[in-house]
Amino acid sequence: DVDATTVAIRKGPDEIQVLVILYDVTFMRQVEKMQSDFVQNVSHELKTPVTAITGFAETLLAGAKDDPEALDKFLHIIQTESQRLTQLIQDTLALSRVGSSNDHIEKVPVAPLVQNALNSIQQPLKDRKLHVNVELDADLSLDTNRRKLSQIVRNLVNNAVFYNKEGGTVSIVGVRTNGGIRLQVSDTGVGIADDEQQRVFERFYRVDKARSRNSGGTGLGLAIVSELVADLGGSIHLASQLGVGSTFTVALPNAVASEHNQDN
Ligand code: ADP
Repeated sequence: DVDATTVAIRKGPDEIQVLVILYDVTFMRQVEKMQSDFVQNVSHELKTPVTAITGFAETLLAGAKDDPEALDKFLHIIQTESQRLTQLIQDTLALSRVGSSNDHIEKVPVAPLVQNALNSIQQPLKDRKLHVNVELDADLSLDTNRRKLSQIVRNLVNNAVFYNKEGGTVSIVGVRTNGGIRLQVSDTGVGIADDEQQRVFERFYRVDKARSRNSGGTGLGLAIVSELVADLGGSIHLASQLGVGSTFTVALPNAVASEHNQDN
């Protein structure tokens, strides 16, 4: 795509110089398209829970509230859909913050982040009778942005729990590497077929829409992870077998303080 600006310069009484400036706006147009696609997707995703909440509230007000069974059932749906709405808003905000360059870099110990991620899903871990195995190098830490690393760990651990099988295992292994860390989050769950393994990192992509919707999924968790990993200069790799389980491996480098300061 090309945009053009024409400038006419009078050089003398009979002489005009015409300057045509061409801009290649292909990249800009692509970015604009991606942004408007994203806004459309978000709006569509937000509409689903809002429609459900409005619909069930109206049904209750129209008289269903007098039936105790319907009252309980519809209130639970309203609660679930409200939680879903909150998750969508949080995930959208998380995505919008990925590129923020004025983020604080500090030495971040890994063990407390893993513990926080596990604490926040204690109940589902219990309900699903999952075993947890954490193996971290002693005093493992990374020079990075705490919020971003924490979000990466939380999203991967959440998925390892929600896409696991009852009685399965969630395993979190972290080792020091030359200049950074490598974190591995594995599960013994449903697994991801070969032809889906690239797509799960796309925004809003879900393998099984019904199941991930029930688990409260937004289809944004792994998109956030892969965009954050790229933002921190790292890489992510997925190995998975359908019906056996998945392993997400994230390699992250220590942020160089001087490079970061130049950003600000
Ligand atoms: P969601 O919010 O739906 O979990 P994600 O972006 O986190 O969205 O994941 C995208 C899709 O990838 C999920 O809907 C699910 O189908 C699949 N997926 C993610 N993590 C796992 C996992 N550990 N095991 C099996 N499937 C997974």
